[in-house]
Amino acid sequence: MRLTVIGCAGSFPGPDSPASAYLVEADGFRMLLDLGNGALGGLQRHAGLFDIDAICLSHLHGDHCLDMAAYWVARTYAPDGPRPRIPVYGPAGTADRLAGAQGTSLAQAMPPAFDFETLVPGASRIGPFKVTVDHVNHPVETFAFRIEHGGRALAYSADTGESDALVRLARGADLLLCEASFADDPAGPPDPAGPSGSPARPRQPNPPGMHLTGSQAGGHAARAAAGQLVLTHLVPWNDQARTLAEAAGTFGGPLSLAAAGRIFELAGPGENIHATR
Ligand SMILES: [Zn+2]
Repeated sequence: MRLTVIGCAGSFPGPDSPASAYLVEADGFRMLLDLGNGALGGLQRHAGLFDIDAICLSHLHGDHCLDMAAYWVARTYAPDGPRPRIPVYGPAGTADRLAGAQGTSLAQAMPPAFDFETLVPGASRIGPFKVTVDHVNHPVETFAFRIEHGGRALAYSADTGESDALVRLARGADLLLCEASFADDPAGPPDPAGPSGSPARPRQPNPPGMHLTGSQAGGHAARAAAGQLVLTHLVPWNDQARTLAEAAGTFGGPLSLAAAGRIFELAGPGENIHATR
């Protein structure tokens, strides 16, 4: 099983990464986890535009699904004819949301490119993968994932605040791809005055039930006894070194930051995971 980070910027694209999208491959089957803003471009560095076999959407916030509208156009208006439908697994209402993003009148005129399947908590088979999903703690219906293949397990937090379901899904996983959108102690010292002399403003507190800090992500990985933690959904205005340091304070295992283009090979039992970039 191979994991490729297509986009890992949190909440909006950054200068070095699209918003959320991850490519998971095994046995020649290619599955996307999320397809946020800008990710369709980056995807084409790692897979053919039409070589995707299934797509899973964790939730319907734009930074996790908006490039589905662009992909819909690409599959529908391919020069040599519309591409076969592929399954898209998402929360209830996914088809309507994507049609709205594209422009409803155009969406109605377009032949469908996707077979939409509504996610419900539990396990199912998608291609060669066993995929287990459960609700996590975010303002809209959101699913985290556990993906298993060849004796290896990968868990993906999606967007979530503190979540026991995430710990269950990540239990003993070889790699936990976990969001770390917030910084610890945001209500601490105020930001310094801006260069134009604007007055210092206190940082906004972290709202509950929304996202995790680096230390909370590390805490989830430790409680789950995950083999490796990769921090993702990194918000461009945060200090990534600080996020990493926060996580290192609560998780003692291998730890790194996601980056667009990073590839993780989850090999068979007894072999170590290695990042090829
Ligand atoms: Zn979200």
